[in-house]
Amino acid sequence: MLRIGCHLSSSKGYCAMAKDALKIHANTFQYFSRNPRGGNAKALDQEDIARFLVETDKNDIHPFLAHAPYTLNGCSADPALRDFARRTMADDLARLEFTPGNLYNFHPGSHVRQGADVGISYIADMLNEILKPDQTTTVLLETMSGKGSEVGRTFEELKAIIDKVGLNSQLGVCLDTCHVWDAGYDIADHLDEVISEFDRIIGLDRLKAIHLNDSLNPLGAHKDRHARLGEGHIGLTSLKRLINHPALAHLPFYLETPNDLAGYAKEIDMISDVGYNHLDYIKYMRNWASAAHPNQTELTGLQLISWLETRIKEVINLPNSTVTIETGRFLKNLKEKAFSNEEVQAFTSFVGNLTTEKVNNLAAGLFGIYYRSETEVYVR
Ligand code: FE
Ligand code: FE
Ligand code: ZN
Repeated sequence: MLRIGCHLSSSKGYCAMAKDALKIHANTFQYFSRNPRGGNAKALDQEDIARFLVETDKNDIHPFLAHAPYTLNGCSADPALRDFARRTMADDLARLEFTPGNLYNFHPGSHVRQGADVGISYIADMLNEILKPDQTTTVLLETMSGKGSEVGRTFEELKAIIDKVGLNSQLGVCLDTCHVWDAGYDIADHLDEVISEFDRIIGLDRLKAIHLNDSLNPLGAHKDRHARLGEGHIGLTSLKRLINHPALAHLPFYLETPNDLAGYAKEIDMISDVGYNHLDYIKYMRNWASAAHPNQTELTGLQLISWLETRIKEVINLPNSTVTIETGRFLKNLKEKAFSNEEVQAFTSFVGNLTTEKVNNLAAGLFGIYYRSETEVYVR
């Protein structure tokens, strides 16, 4: 199931956000942890939070992504500004423990003529001071467009920050499609290559969320001006392909497009509707599996199934691993013309033989194989 939402106003409190999310068919959402320009946060209303947690649980709305004020600069040359960023983020993280187990996203900062290396060190220092071993929130570094002296314009810069942080099991990355496009990563014509590069440099297991935006500017413009989906240079076809990519489809997607609530509702309905053409997707899935296959050739249906089997068996044999197979939907997809009876048979008997408690069966979902982490594989 597509996990999609948008940036919502938090001015009326938590329950109001849950209501807004429901109204626009969102099953996740983002909000500013406090005034986006920084400053004091409102006192938490515990009753509002308690009702909100019940509502979101009942309606399967999760995870919540709190966005840090974008004026914070944890790598400023001015120690007072660095201190302000550190105190604000520490306070945000303390507040987030009242809605445990969610996500907190921040812009790494701007180094302003100090050089990216100095910026990276300051950001890591700040994280080393504020992350706590027992916190339940995952802190996400956002990929940046590289306007001005922004840190985080390349996957390498984000990786350098992560590597300098002791408690980096608490860290992840939020990929903003407009930002990476503006930074020069061609997610329209070379999506597989960009995903592979992310995996090689940072590791896909760090990727926890996507900001789904089109861009008003061409590839590599380093501008950061968001456009509505299909109204920018990335284009709707490429964004649809991205949300359905086997390596990304399980992630939560957050729209930060220039829209009011009604506009977001339209955009969410449009993107949920795209569904995608099953046959196209299966072909795409085959190509993707082929690219990951050591022989690099296009796989036949039987080869694809045996490739899936091998990957699944590798994961099952690891300690503490999980395998989830949404068998019903998977078989339905196989049967939808793209696969022969023989191929369907091969997969059915393979699944039938997986009698281990590590395999969960679910009824519905998208088609694909997803690596959630080194020890978690997901097939649907
Ligand atoms: Fe952001
Ligand atoms: Fe963003
Ligand atoms: Zn942006």
